[in-house]
Amino acid sequence: METQTGKKFAILDLGKFEGLDQFVFEAPEVKIKREGKVFLKDLLNLSGAEISINKLPAYESIPFYHTHRQNEEIYIFLSGTGEFQIDGEIFPVGEGSIVRVDPAGERCWRNCGETDLYCVVIQVKAGSYQDRTIQDGMAVRKRVTWS
Ligand code: ZN
Repeated sequence: METQTGKKFAILDLGKFEGLDQFVFEAPEVKIKREGKVFLKDLLNLSGAEISINKLPAYESIPFYHTHRQNEEIYIFLSGTGEFQIDGEIFPVGEGSIVRVDPAGERCWRNCGETDLYCVVIQVKAGSYQDRTIQDGMAVRKRVTWS
């Protein structure tokens, strides 16, 4: 896996999501080691968000709750069947489910199905988003070509 960078971009190919097991997230200070999780901030040199791609095997649960100090999280579920828990409330999740959690929300999620559960987690500083997409974007007056 290599990141291709240019002056104004970075491109990464993680390969098929089923191969996410090759990535291991370790946080020894809290005794966490998990296969199937890759963070993109350093790989892509992200400057305003942390994003992780996650694979949770059949019938497994994240074995801990966690909160954040200042970042909210958005979980975008891509496939599989699971449950999401926030402060003791439990919700079903699967392909198309999107969950936003306040920094202080105690969260956990688990796979309730026979197939892998995949989700993308975006972490951004709560309250940091200033300009709406359409106000920040600027049209480039140039004809589109692909040659
Ligand atoms: Zn988190």
